[in-house]
Parts: sequence; structure tokens; C-alpha cells
Amino acid sequence: MDVIVLGGGLMGTASAYFLARRGARVTLVERNRIGTGATVASFGNIRRTGRHLSQLPLAHRSLRLWGKAERMLGRDVEFRATGHIRLIFDEGSLADMRAYAQATRPWGLDLEELRPREISARFPGLGPEAIAASFSPQDGSANPRLIARAFAEAARKLGAEIVEEAEVDKITYTGCGFLVASSKGAFAADCLLNTAGAWGARIAAQFGEEVPIDARGPQMGVTEPLPNRILPVVGIWTRNKEHGAYLRQVERGNIVFGGAAERVSASLDPGHAVADPMGLALQLRAVARLLPAIARVAVIRTWSGCEGYIRDMLPVMGRSATTPGLFHAFGFSGHGFQLGPGVGDAMAELIMTDRCETPLGDFRIDRFNQGI
Ligand SMILES: Cc1cc2nc3c(=O)[nH]c(=O)nc-3n(C[C@H](O)[C@H](O)[C@H](O)COP(=O)(O)OP(=O)(O)OC[C@H]3O[C@@H](n4cnc5c(N)ncnc54)[C@H](O)[C@@H]3O)c2cc1C
Repeated sequence: MDVIVLGGGLMGTASAYFLARRGARVTLVERNRIGTGATVASFGNIRRTGRHLSQLPLAHRSLRLWGKAERMLGRDVEFRATGHIRLIFDEGSLADMRAYAQATRPWGLDLEELRPREISARFPGLGPEAIAASFSPQDGSANPRLIARAFAEAARKLGAEIVEEAEVDKITYTGCGFLVASSKGAFAADCLLNTAGAWGARIAAQFGEEVPIDARGPQMGVTEPLPNRILPVVGIWTRNKEHGAYLRQVERGNIVFGGAAERVSASLDPGHAVADPMGLALQLRAVARLLPAIARVAVIRTWSGCEGYIRDMLPVMGRSATTPGLFHAFGFSGHGFQLGPGVGDAMAELIMTDRCETPLGDFRIDRFNQGI
């Protein structure tokens, strides 16, 4: 089977890799460079805690693949299962965490509850005022700068054609396949997979499928290196958005942080999101509650990235509802990094076998048909 994958972020490159592994002839068309959309901007959190329940089977599938990534792709993409801790500072958030932990247990997510003494013994320096925390030991982080290119290179080794800096002019459905005309030539295939991220709804609209999506940019920052090593990714359970920060320390010592500040609006053309400096003070206040030592280091860079947020905060994944042979996987609403390898594997399974062992029903594209 021939498949054109449109968009070379994490979703497109992972799909290209798993499609090629299943024997498809794949052409991946990316209008910029591989991995330079939302993927490169990501915080790099490999987190299952806090996900919508219906996303957990896909998140588990993805976590298993992150664990094999180095062997599978032939390079270290810096996946480290260092654990994910979410600190708790008030009784309401403790009740929320316990309710979530109970709800997710049948879905295969086991959260440990830590008391203050365990937090300070196991993770010194974190949340001195925390009254509890959840801990998910198998989660962690990976390097967003490496993963898409690693998937693309591995796909290329399996025979996939990776076409970068190709402006797509026209997509035509011929009745039995697709023709994609681009600045780098024309491509034809039986199937088309739309992995165009925040731009994915534009592709879907060409086939009469409307998706309520908003392009926004979460705000991120990084400090100069700190000597102490904080192993887990750190977040918070809170109902107050202004406290909702998260951080991780990379192996070189820098603290990467995000959250708390409003996501900036992003324009699809040219597709960049610029961090708002006014949000930084708010972010640092929220991060300091999790890690007081942040007050002693300088922030050396801030950034954002253009991500597609769908109205119900769930992605679109699966078959087109209008066009045979068309598939979608876009709109990951700020939490697609963890899901990436699982999305690629699941989409390849769906395209090549017409079934998918992971339930994707909640992500179908026609769920917005009423009252869009
Ligand atoms: C600042 C930030 C922090 C984040 N942090 C996390 C995190 O910690 N954990 C987590 O799970 N998720 C996180 N996310 C979300 C995660 O990064 C995204 O959900 C994920 O990377 C989306 O991948 P994608 O391949 O769908 O999109 P993208 O990486 O944006 O890739 C889409 C690609 O399609 C290309 N394209 C668009 N239109 C066309 C066209 N017509 N023809 C050809 N190519 C086209 C684009 O150029 C782009 O390269 C974060 C996102 C941002 C922005």
C-alpha cells in the first residue's frame, strides 16, 4: 500500500516509521524541516497522570514504545523513566488527586500517594509546604529536539521517502487515491494521513470536515544550570490556573519550566508563537512553590510553539468521515508529546489492517457534527 503522510512533526514521523515497518511505501511531506512545529517546542513531559481516561490505553501503548525507543530507532532520544511527581498544597487538590487515582486504577494507572516526609526524603528541595503528592514511577521525559528526526531517519532506513521544505499547493481525491502537488513535485498514493498539527483542520476542511480548533502557544522557559539533580518531572495538583506550573531538570543541570501563564495566541501563518514576557513573573512565582531554589538562578531563554487545541481538548484520530483512504491524527491540544509513538503505531495499524487494538472512538472527527 502507498501512503502519503502530510506533516513531519512527531505524529507524522512516528506514523511514517511504523507504516514502513508494516511494509507500506511511505512518502512524508513536510513544508518546513522535520520536527520544527509544536514538537521541537515541547516541554518533553512523558506523563500519563491527569490525562482524560479515554486517552490512557493510547498513553500506555506509547509509554511501552518510549521504553524501546533507543533500541528501535538506533539512537538515544533521552527518554528517562525518572518518574512524575505532582505536589499537593491544599485539601481540595488532595481530594481531586485521590478521586483521579481511584478512577484510573481500572485503566491501568497506579499512582502512589506520598506524605510530606516521603517527599522530603526521596526528593529533597521539592515543595517544602506540600501536604502530599502523587507519584507515577514509570513516567518521565525525553528530548523534543531529537525524537522527530530520529523517527524520520529510522523511517528513511526502512525505505520511506522524507520530503522536507515542500510547499503543498493542491490535494486531489481521485476516487481511488490522492494526488498531492507540491513545490518538490507531485506524489500519488492510495491513502493520505493528515498529521499537520495545528494546521490539520485546514486539511480536513478541504474534505468537508470541520473541527473547532484554536492555535495557541504554551509558554516555556529554561534557567542556567543548577548543581543539584532533581530526577522526576515535577507538577502540581491545583484548581488555580495561576499555580499550575511544572518543571524538570535536564541532565546538563538546567531547569526547564512551563505552565501557570496563559497560553499566547498563535497565528497559523507563519505558524510561530512568541512567549509573552509578562507571563514570566507569574510562572516563576508558581515554579518557586514547587522548587524554591529557582529563585537563585537566571532564566536564560523563553519560547513558545504553535499547537492546535481542540474544543474538547481531545485529539482527532482515525478515519475520515467523508473520504475513503483519508486518515487524521492532529490537534493534540498540548499533550501529544507523550502520545507520539503510540499515535504513530496505532495509525499504522489502522491504515494497514483496517482495525486498531487501541480504542480511538472518542477521537473520531465527526464528534463535532452537532452544534459546531
Ligand atoms: C510549548 C509546548 C510545550 C509542550 N509540552 C508538552 C509536554 O510536555 N508533553 C506533551 O505530551 N505534549 C506537549 N506539547 C504538545 C506536543 O508538543 C504536541 O502535541 C505534539 O508535538 C504535536 O505533534 P504533531 O506532529 O501533531 O505537530 P507538529 O509538531 O506541529 O507537526 C506538524 C507539522 O505539520 C507541518 N505542516 C502543516 N501544514 C502542512 C502542509 N500543508 N503540508 C506539509 N506539512 C505541513 C508543520 O510544518 C509541522 O512540522 C507541547 C506543545 C508546545 C507548543
